[in-house]
Amino acid sequence: MNNIRHTVPDDLLMGYAAGALPQPFDLVVATHVSLSDDARARLAGFEAVGGAVLEEMEGAALADDSFDRTLARIAGKAPEPYRAPSRGIFPTPLQRVVGGDEGAVKWKSIGMGARQALLCSEGEATARLIFIPAGQAMPQHSHRGMELTLVLKGAFRDDGGLYARGDLEVANEEVDHTPTAEPGEDCICLIATDGRLKFTRLLPRIAQPFFGI
Ligand code: ZN
Repeated sequence: MNNIRHTVPDDLLMGYAAGALPQPFDLVVATHVSLSDDARARLAGFEAVGGAVLEEMEGAALADDSFDRTLARIAGKAPEPYRAPSRGIFPTPLQRVVGGDEGAVKWKSIGMGARQALLCSEGEATARLIFIPAGQAMPQHSHRGMELTLVLKGAFRDDGGLYARGDLEVANEEVDHTPTAEPGEDCICLIATDGRLKFTRLLPRIAQPFFGI
């Protein structure tokens, strides 16, 4: 897919190449890479210098098993899921975690027709799928940490522009947004967060413990 407007920044992609990301972020980047020729090309460059990348990242907080994961990647033992073909709307890395495509997701309602499914977590980091009905807004919120949002189906819009399939939005403490699904098609996103989202309106704040986000 070549018409991706919003892709992963180099520093995050380097962290991925080095195996330094927590599992939820690793999953989102792997899934994005499956959909983005540009990200895949840059990743290939970083992986070619895998050991050097890890050295450059000395001093950064690495996951406990990052060195092993990096060695596994360099040795070619780690699966390279983005090269495997997949059917359906979920790329292979995501299908591995879900256990199938869209139909295999164990959704839970979070109200107003929206749904979510928790996929995995590591420390404070969590990955989840979110389903937003066409034309509907997610609650406005800011962020305590980093949030990655990858569109798998449909599209959403916020102050950062339009995000369609394959697009990745990177949000942090400075971003306060209200992603709204485009009319006409329901939107499914894969989201990783590394801190509990800070909802800025009363109702969502009350609902936060129930949403678990
Ligand atoms: Zn957000």
